[in-house]
Amino acid sequence: MTPPSTQDPLALSLPESATPAPALRAAASVPPPLGLLAELTHRCPLRCPYCSNPIELARQAAELDTATWLRVFREAADLGVLQLHLSGGEPTLRRDLPDLVRGAAEAGLYTNLITSAVTLDAARVNALAEAGLDHVQISFQDADPASADRIGGYAGGHAKKLTAAAAIRAAGLPLTLNAVVHRQNLERLPEMIDLAVALGARRMEVAHVQYYGWALANRDALLPTRAQLDAATATIDSARTCLKGRLTIDYVVPDYHAARPKACMGGWASSVMVVAPTGRALPCHAAESLPNFDFPDVRTHSLAAIWNHSEAFNRYRGTAWMTGPCAGCPNAEIDWGGCRCQAHALTANASNTDPACALSPHHALLATALEHATTTHFTYREPGRPPAR
Ligand code: SF4
Ligand code: SF4
Repeated sequence: MTPPSTQDPLALSLPESATPAPALRAAASVPPPLGLLAELTHRCPLRCPYCSNPIELARQAAELDTATWLRVFREAADLGVLQLHLSGGEPTLRRDLPDLVRGAAEAGLYTNLITSAVTLDAARVNALAEAGLDHVQISFQDADPASADRIGGYAGGHAKKLTAAAAIRAAGLPLTLNAVVHRQNLERLPEMIDLAVALGARRMEVAHVQYYGWALANRDALLPTRAQLDAATATIDSARTCLKGRLTIDYVVPDYHAARPKACMGGWASSVMVVAPTGRALPCHAAESLPNFDFPDVRTHSLAAIWNHSEAFNRYRGTAWMTGPCAGCPNAEIDWGGCRCQAHALTANASNTDPACALSPHHALLATALEHATTTHFTYREPGRPPAR
């Protein structure tokens, strides 16, 4: 699915009734995660060139079954999780989605569906609403239909999203519009904001592409110019003022023009737990790109044990693991050394300082990448064919 923001991961407004039970907080050895991102499947009809799903996608036969997901949701609620994000791939391809929503609601979780929406019609939306779904996020690839369909690699997808958004609002569900932005759609950011307003969204997340996995293979076609970034930031500032009280806009800036990294996921294993379609538990949705990890499986380990005690979740927690410029840096507990997946993708060592930081000895790699970003050609996923890079 559209990569969640890695700056303010999976931020949503919660009803006041969704306050964690103090007893649950006290029971854990580390603060519990706020959110669980359940990647129900890697299957998806779209082929976005920045997709955050792994290069090797999980097969349908390897996906967790209904009963296991429902047990995971109950364990999440017991652990103190408040928000459940049902994502993918395209989560609506799971036929048991209404059952999963109903089970999560019964466990007391606030349920958010993150979808491309091309498979949603009014009947399916109403069934999900009746099952207890609380909120929907739809990803839009562009405001221009032809460009949106080209970017998503799916003819007619944009029109289907518009129909689905209307059905979601008609069902009384709150809607967030997700826009992943890059060099080939940034010029239409004002139109994307207009689209969010026209569709009745109350929140919009504008997130620049994060460059790992498939997005790294398409980096030369996606990286924005400095002028585009400055124009986008001005557009966001202006829209936030004009639309105050009507549309909340979250904005995730790109790393490649930055001097300091983002606090990726708010810090490793600090607020969100991810469960991949196969049952592997991850500290972030891109962590499967990291080598030399034994990510625990929810089939054989409880969420509480994974969150509190697994080596994978504790390896980069806090600041004790830091070396190089991060060790002793006054920003260490602000940005947590940046993104481990980006450090690995660009330096082949996940323990390095994120090269987005100007203090990193690898920071020049980003300027070099910007100089090479001149093509408009996308490499799309093809079954059994890895990206060239
Ligand atoms: S192809 Fe696009 S819509 Fe599908 S999972 Fe990837 S980013 Fe999401
Ligand atoms: S050296 Fe590390 S902690 Fe300091 S600003 Fe850079 S990434 Fe952040």
